[in-house]
Amino acid sequence: MKKRDLTIGTALLLLGGFVTWEAASARAGSPATSPAASFGSAVMSDDDSVLAGPSVRRLLRAAPRREAPDLPDRVLEIRRRLELSSHDTYIGDVIAAHDSALARWPDRSANPLRVWVQTTSTHRGFTDRVVPIVRRAFAEWSAVGLPVPFTFVVDSASADVRVTWVDQFSEPISGKTLWAHDDGWWIVDADIQLAVRHHTGEVLDSGSVRAIAMHEVGHLLGLDHTTDTTSIMAPKVRVRDLSPSDRATAQLLYRLPAGRVR
Ligand SMILES: [Zn+2]
Repeated sequence: MKKRDLTIGTALLLLGGFVTWEAASARAGSPATSPAASFGSAVMSDDDSVLAGPSVRRLLRAAPRREAPDLPDRVLEIRRRLELSSHDTYIGDVIAAHDSALARWPDRSANPLRVWVQTTSTHRGFTDRVVPIVRRAFAEWSAVGLPVPFTFVVDSASADVRVTWVDQFSEPISGKTLWAHDDGWWIVDADIQLAVRHHTGEVLDSGSVRAIAMHEVGHLLGLDHTTDTTSIMAPKVRVRDLSPSDRATAQLLYRLPAGRVR
């Protein structure tokens, strides 16, 4: 197979009183800076090459505050539960990447996340065959059993999550997730951008689109990169399915409240 690197970028939209916009180059796992948590870049590859991309942080819009005081007892209790349950997960990697915080959606069991996937595009090489591939990526995560079911909507204005297509990124990435959280680290909004073509010009094949989409959905759920190379959330994604640690990490994340753990 022709050597190809598919890089997945990650971005965070920080809400709740901060007005900031910045773009900075950072490697995965680099220390977060206040006030915005910093996500490292992600790299997806069909071979063993690794690329480091940028992380992006910016304010999208204001969001209502939630009551989530970081009380010491609360933090201690969460840390105790992490110590008991973090085996076979990469929750530590996620916390480190999120400024020592757990970020997740509130329980949406009774109100599924509304997902809109762009079904048409004029970008060269786009085919609507990728649309069901993206939807299946959401379905794969739904099967994990998180309290965040998805439902697909046809009206982007009513969606919680929007998946749009870009021709290609100018940087060596093939996907990007922008999500927003409030002051309590509860995720309130998300957008995924997927490239039709790699930054080198190649049209992304269906397997690559699937892997990129699954990786990005992992981001929008609140996961981040792991050193576990068998997982879909590895910076260099070598797999096409969720790993046991992907599932276990997401399940643990959604058994804990959002917020800082230090
Ligand atoms: Zn990533």
